[in-house]
Amino acid sequence: MSRPQQSDLEQKFDLLLKSNSIGANIKELSAEPHHLGSPGGKRVADAILKKFREYGWDAKIETYHVLFPTPKTRVLELTEPTRFSATLKELAVSEDATSGQEGQLPTYVAWSADGDVTGDLVYVNFGLPEDYKQLEKLNIDVKGKIVIARYGHSWRGMKPKIAYEHGAIGCIIYSDPKEDGYFQGDVYPKGAFKNEYTVQRGSVMDMVVYPGDPLTPGIGSTLKAKRLSREEATTILKIPVLPIGYHDALPLLSALEGPVAPQEWRGALPITYKIGGNGKATVHLKTEFNWDIVPAYDVIAKIKGFEFPDEWVIRGNHHDAWVNGASDPISGQASLLEEAKAIGQLVRSGYKPKRTLVYCAWDGEEQSLLGSTEWAEDHQNELSQKAVAYINTDGNGRGFLGAEGSHALENFVTEIAKDVKDPQTGSSVFERRQAAEAVRAGTPKLKKEALAKDSYSLGALGTGSDYSSFLQHLGIPTLSFGFGGEDAGGEYHSIYDSYDNFVRFKDPGFAYGVALSQVVGRSVLRLADADILPFDFRSLQKTISKYLEEVSHLSDQLREVNAVDNQLVKAKSYQLATDPKIVFIALTEKESVPVLDFSNLKTSLDSLQKSANQLYELQKKFNVIPDKKIDKLNVMLFQAEKQLLIPAGLPRRSWYKHAIYAPGFYTGYGVKTLPGIREAIEEGHWQEAREQIEIATKAVNRLNVALGNAIQIAREIQ
Ligand SMILES: [Zn+2]
Repeated sequence: MSRPQQSDLEQKFDLLLKSNSIGANIKELSAEPHHLGSPGGKRVADAILKKFREYGWDAKIETYHVLFPTPKTRVLELTEPTRFSATLKELAVSEDATSGQEGQLPTYVAWSADGDVTGDLVYVNFGLPEDYKQLEKLNIDVKGKIVIARYGHSWRGMKPKIAYEHGAIGCIIYSDPKEDGYFQGDVYPKGAFKNEYTVQRGSVMDMVVYPGDPLTPGIGSTLKAKRLSREEATTILKIPVLPIGYHDALPLLSALEGPVAPQEWRGALPITYKIGGNGKATVHLKTEFNWDIVPAYDVIAKIKGFEFPDEWVIRGNHHDAWVNGASDPISGQASLLEEAKAIGQLVRSGYKPKRTLVYCAWDGEEQSLLGSTEWAEDHQNELSQKAVAYINTDGNGRGFLGAEGSHALENFVTEIAKDVKDPQTGSSVFERRQAAEAVRAGTPKLKKEALAKDSYSLGALGTGSDYSSFLQHLGIPTLSFGFGGEDAGGEYHSIYDSYDNFVRFKDPGFAYGVALSQVVGRSVLRLADADILPFDFRSLQKTISKYLEEVSHLSDQLREVNAVDNQLVKAKSYQLATDPKIVFIALTEKESVPVLDFSNLKTSLDSLQKSANQLYELQKKFNVIPDKKIDKLNVMLFQAEKQLLIPAGLPRRSWYKHAIYAPGFYTGYGVKTLPGIREAIEEGHWQEAREQIEIATKAVNRLNVALGNAIQIAREIQ
């Protein structure tokens, strides 16, 4: 499609997007609790199916059968020095019409173990690896004890995993008012932030090993699929875990004795934060779950491509929620449906997309990407051949455009961000985002750079939403979008993520719902109709080079940090600098960090730069192409990213195969770029670091060969 034709199509598309219809869909689809396996969940899936069909799409439900634990018993009580039983309940409020409905899942986290434990309580701050290093210095361990960690700074599932690795027998995760309670603003229902009873539900599956149904890694969980036993499933936690609000956390934290918590560990409760772990405060934690296999309903809708039916542009957002989920996920789902409606109308009035459009409403995302992972695993062969790209959203709010994904699509995203207007200011969403980056940059130099930058800085994807299987397991080029930054609140995964909350604090008027449809709709339509697919490997090459600089700097820095720390240990500086009343264990010296050789990877990236430039010049020259070979070239372009897949996968988690992007083994949602190399350095596995440099070099070389072949074809056509 020519540029004028494309922009004419997009104008028509924009005129078909209506904020009131987005609002009506948010209201309808968040009207009742609709988690995985619930009657409300089935009703939402059926309603979405019906809408796709009304819009003219060929739609069906694909059902998978997934393990889903729901709570049977939840007990948390302080038994020493006083008795207190946690309420474990959020309260209905009159300002929120759906907050008191039947059918809400209780406050809990999925994939906690069944367990009944009693133990000494220890406060572990955010429960990160460095927090345990701090505890070690203070001579406090968590072996045989129950830890209480606050939400924030890592994905929740990391907190019990790391606690378990340190020997804890139970884990409580609480929301401190400092992060998203009264320290941030008025609490719900007066304001958007957490009141004392608000609890963040969620999954604590070890999804950085593999996401999806724990019983069927790598394959779709169809009825006849061969399943692991629960004991064999490595992603289910080994200790009991419960999440609580600060009403329930206050008596527990108040009961702790022992050293005062370091300053950065202190939250906003009106107490002196202490660490405990000295036998003064004892808690009893009991959890039991129904380990049922339930149906997950993925709604899949297609419009067949008129020229290249076997090239698929895929777009998804989940439909299941922890409770009502007006924001997460329904606001994104409503934008998806609005795009589908508009595209359906365009097709009725004669528009013929060249490539096939596949719109997906996923089930079971909240339990760790069950619906999308099972579908992607079930269809992996077909997807590997046909998927041009996967575009994800997962809810939406007010503010700035967030975009992450495959860096060969960075310039593609830049163009779209420049073409879509911000609903509040009338500037482009690119300009708003750029202004925010410049204002927030830490130094005058960085501010100047941000202002001068002409491209959108695409983030890298870790995990936490339905794109994971597409990008990290199958190597399909992926993008993820959402507006936010001016919609802060504490409703996430609570009963207060409701329509009433959404229209007050998230996207009043649903203008950003329309903006999201404009951004994603353009992405879908441009990919569907491009004569030459808009992959630009120059940005990918630049980005990988930047990551290489980072990991090389990281190893240098670590070498210096360890060397200096060893000097301090030798000189007994830690003991001399601290109050002797606080007992220290003997600190051990750290391993010295060897020099790692990155030169082969650097050389490969230099060659990649040359081929990426050459290919870009050839892509630019194309005008209208009569040649059949153009399709061959396009296939090469959308298949190229798969060269970055590591055949054997990442160490200790072979499901994750992308050499450039993975969720962190100890951060969860947070991305680790060049993950094999970076994590080997962080964990001090030097031989593995050397191997991973080699593996990444081979991946870059393969991509280079693939671009070379594409250059060959491009030359033949011209
Ligand atoms: Zn979500």
